[in-house]
Order: sequence, then C-alpha cells, then structure tokens
Amino acid sequence: ADGDLHIAPAALPGITRIYLGHEIVGDVVEVGSEVKGYKVGDRVASQSLAGSCLGQGREPLCRYCAVGNYSLCEGARQQEPLSVGGGYAEEWVTHEGRLFPVPDDLSDEQAVLLEPAACGLRAALRRRAQVGDRVMVIGCGTIGLMTLQSIRAVQPECEITALAQFDYQADMARKLGASNIIMLGSDAYSEVARLTGGRLYRGRLGNRTVMGGFDIVYDCVGKPQTLRDALRWARASGAVVLVGVHMAPMDIDLTPLWYWEVDLLGLFAH
Ligand SMILES: [Zn+2]
Repeated sequence: ADGDLHIAPAALPGITRIYLGHEIVGDVVEVGSEVKGYKVGDRVASQSLAGSCLGQGREPLCRYCAVGNYSLCEGARQQEPLSVGGGYAEEWVTHEGRLFPVPDDLSDEQAVLLEPAACGLRAALRRRAQVGDRVMVIGCGTIGLMTLQSIRAVQPECEITALAQFDYQADMARKLGASNIIMLGSDAYSEVARLTGGRLYRGRLGNRTVMGGFDIVYDCVGKPQTLRDALRWARASGAVVLVGVHMAPMDIDLTPLWYWEVDLLGLFAH
C-alpha cells in the first residue's frame, strides 16, 4: 500500500520488523506454561488485535478493551513483545488473546476470512441501514463484499447498490444481496440519480453532484476520488462510512459535510 509518515497512526510506537500475512488460520502446535484457553491440536483463527490489551495480555485492560472494543485500544506502549512470524510462515508465535477457536463446521477457507469479515461487520454497524433505506457499497473486492454481506445480514429490508470493477465482482455482489450494480467506467453520477430518484446537477468545469442520493454510502475503496464521489452521492443528512484505507493525507472537497450535513464516519477493524 502507499504509505506516508505524516498520517496520525505513524506517530504510534513503531514496528521495526513486519511479517507478511495477517489473515491466519492454523492448528496450535505448542503452548506456553501460562496459556489457559488453548491446547495442542486446537484449530484457531486470528483477529487484528496486535497491540491491543487483549492481544498483548496487558492488565488492567484499557477502557475500550474492557468493553470488547479492541480496535480502539489506548494502551499501546513503546516497548513490548510482538508476534513473531505471520500468515505466510509455517509457524507463528503469538499471544493467545489474538486467537479465536474455529467451530468444526467452518472450513479453513471460511475461517481465514475472520479478519476481513469482522471489518465488514464493523462497517455495517458503524451506521446501520434502516428499513427501506437505499445504501451503496463502493468497491467489490474482499472488504467491499464482506461489507455488503454484513449490511444485508444486519438489515434485510434495505436496498443495496454496488459499484464493481469486474463482472465476477458484480455476479458475487448480486449473490450476496445487491439489487443494483453500477459498473466502473459507466456514468455513475447518472446511475446514482436514477437509482435513488435524486437529481443530477451539472455546474461549471465539469463539476457535478446529486441531490437526494443514498441514505448511506460505504466507501470500501477509500481513495480521494471515491470519497469525493461518496460525499456527493449521499443524501442531505445521510452518511458516508469510510471503510477502505488510504495511508496518506487526502485533498478532497468536504463541503457536503456542512452544506448538506452529511456525516463522515470511519473504522479500521472490529
Ligand atoms: Zn486496550
């Protein structure tokens, strides 16, 4: 991913060595003497809790970890042991707090999606769709499809439109509950207006916006261009949930936040 040392998380205690692979499923092959929750042979999957009080075994838990909100942990310290190895390695040494037992009826291929599925669920819960809402999911990669699936599970009575880049993504989005698909490269502004009953306005210099767009737009790409569009595709007093991560400062038009009171929300993990 593109990175930038000026973003806020870059000020946190650094990790000098990064192991590849953060979506992990496997069998426990060895346990330390103080491990309480697992034994050799247990099948486990991991969650992105590195650095949280739970994932580090810190006591007492910070106020967020104490209520299970591990992704908002305030307890990061300068020097403490981190996991060794990652999902691309044969073996991985970590604290038991980062693991979850895998039920027998889940395959490895399903269980390894625990982490991205949790991100999608977090997105759906960040702003819940209400009965009759029209919502949009921008991007149909893994995170976009997980978000779509979660929105459908959390609110069966909403209408979901997905913006996809490839045909196979569009097919999967339909299977997971999208009623409408907008393909990347089509006239998305016109499509948004048509699908929401909103009005498309064209200003000078190619400047366009939609009035009366979606109740919620989940931007699962998160680049300056998609976030700019998402803010113009949400209705007045609607919301944009920023799900995709862009690891650099952005230069975008935020006027929809005050001119139309569009809420901009974000999340990182569950
Ligand atoms: Zn914590």
